[in-house]
Amino acid sequence: MQCPFCGDNDDKVVDSRPAEEGGAIRRRRECLVCARRFTTYERVEELPLVVRKRSGQLEPFDAQKILAGLERAASSRIEPEVLAEAVISIEEDLRSVGTEIGSDQVGMAVLDALRAIDAVAYLRFASVYKGFDDVADFEREVGELRRQERLEKTTAPKPRL
Ligand SMILES: [Zn+2]
Repeated sequence: MQCPFCGDNDDKVVDSRPAEEGGAIRRRRECLVCARRFTTYERVEELPLVVRKRSGQLEPFDAQKILAGLERAASSRIEPEVLAEAVISIEEDLRSVGTEIGSDQVGMAVLDALRAIDAVAYLRFASVYKGFDDVADFEREVGELRRQERLEKTTAPKPRL
């Protein structure tokens, strides 16, 4: 490792210990040329998340693309910070599935996130994603939304009197 003081590449590790709750190894190093000490952190390289399209083609997961899709559906109904957080949680959800995911899983994750945030934005996104052709498609989706709302209400804990 290059010494930040003299630029030489010769050093010895004088101490290694876990850091960041085991997510990294912290190493204390001593430069063999100038004898000054510095610290390095070693982490596992984050695996790239790839999306398999319906055509079978693979492409890297693009958080910006997800954000753009959310912004289009939200069209100023939702705060930008809320959308940015939604993108992060969508990516986390997808990463928990694996490093290669289907484009349909991405679409479903976006729909799940939007459903919890804003019904209108959800319907807008669903109309594009699911390719709604007519009013009946919207009615079916709205019916589904209502059904789920009722379900959430009945399963929610009753307020204490
Ligand atoms: Zn040095």
